[in-house]
Amino acid sequence: MKVHWRFTSGTRNTYAALYAACEREGILLSPVSAPAPDITCYSLSSLNAPSLLTEIEAGGCITIAGGPYATACYREVAEKADYVVVGEGERTLPELLFAIEKGTADTVPGVATRHGFRPADSMVRLDAWPPFSQMKGYVELSRGCPFSCAYCQTPRIFGHAMRHRSIDEVARYASRYRDARFVTPNALAYGSDGRSPCLAKVERLLKRLRNNIYLGTFPSEVRPEFVSEEALSLITRYCANTSLQFGAQSGSDSVLEHLKRGHSVDDVIHAVELCRDAGLKPVVDVIVGFPFETAEDQRATADLIRWISTCGTVHAHLFLPLPGTPLEKTSPVPLIPELSHLLGSLALKGKVTGSWRDPRISFCGSCSNDRA
Ligand code: SF4
Repeated sequence: MKVHWRFTSGTRNTYAALYAACEREGILLSPVSAPAPDITCYSLSSLNAPSLLTEIEAGGCITIAGGPYATACYREVAEKADYVVVGEGERTLPELLFAIEKGTADTVPGVATRHGFRPADSMVRLDAWPPFSQMKGYVELSRGCPFSCAYCQTPRIFGHAMRHRSIDEVARYASRYRDARFVTPNALAYGSDGRSPCLAKVERLLKRLRNNIYLGTFPSEVRPEFVSEEALSLITRYCANTSLQFGAQSGSDSVLEHLKRGHSVDDVIHAVELCRDAGLKPVVDVIVGFPFETAEDQRATADLIRWISTCGTVHAHLFLPLPGTPLEKTSPVPLIPELSHLLGSLALKGKVTGSWRDPRISFCGSCSNDRA
């Protein structure tokens, strides 16, 4: 039985993890740029789903779809794909592939078909699965998030309990790189419950790694209220990065409350000041166009962006309603001219990156890891 992976640039890290999981079970996931028999696997996001679902429907082979979009919309996707992996794929995908071969695939936990769905009985333990093998990817440090930001799929897919890869396993995989980069919803929450930092554990991890370590830069950003003098002294002592990336998302406390972000604008300002004083460039994520954003909220966001640009940079993008989140049925509101012009003029000076006109460009999904 030949099994293929429909390769797309945005799903490289998912491919690396699932390639390793399947390889361990003796199954090779060969990359393809179009569906191929016997089986082709897809990872669907909100951005690639419209085109890939059309391809799946016309596939001409057995199709398996997973990923954040397929997890949130498994009923819709099961009308087009033969099987939908709902949630984490490391254990479910190899089990499903064996079951397809045996003809028992309708009963695999974590798999939906047009006839029904049996949820997975447990979450994946990170140490039980390699983050990658010969198909290289980032080392995933942690999965799950105790916060519930209204626009974010992460806790809805991976749960609210934070799970961590052990220091031994992180060191083992990081040693395969000269520059070690990580995936996590919040790098400074390593080893903790995700609500308050456990910096002793972060330091034990950093002490153990022998490479150039990049922690708190994409794709391992941090939350602003986790930025402290102690945390920054660990970054400056052990890591190679000269910047720290974290999410502000808005300059309006009222918007942050609506979003259930769990931090204030003052937390963001404090984090920026601490970075500046520690000699690290703050790189701050901002989302614009939230459906409940007023002109006053957008002016507050413009003020924050203007101030951040004096010592750091802003990564801005337009709100994209994601399925499975409380904001899924909403749409972005237009930007006031003041905010739009500010973003444009700061972009010309290299102080703003991202896309605030079209969410399909450069939506990085702050703190998202996508191993669904
Ligand atoms: S945006 Fe980050 S902090 Fe908020 S729920 Fe998602 S992963 Fe958690």
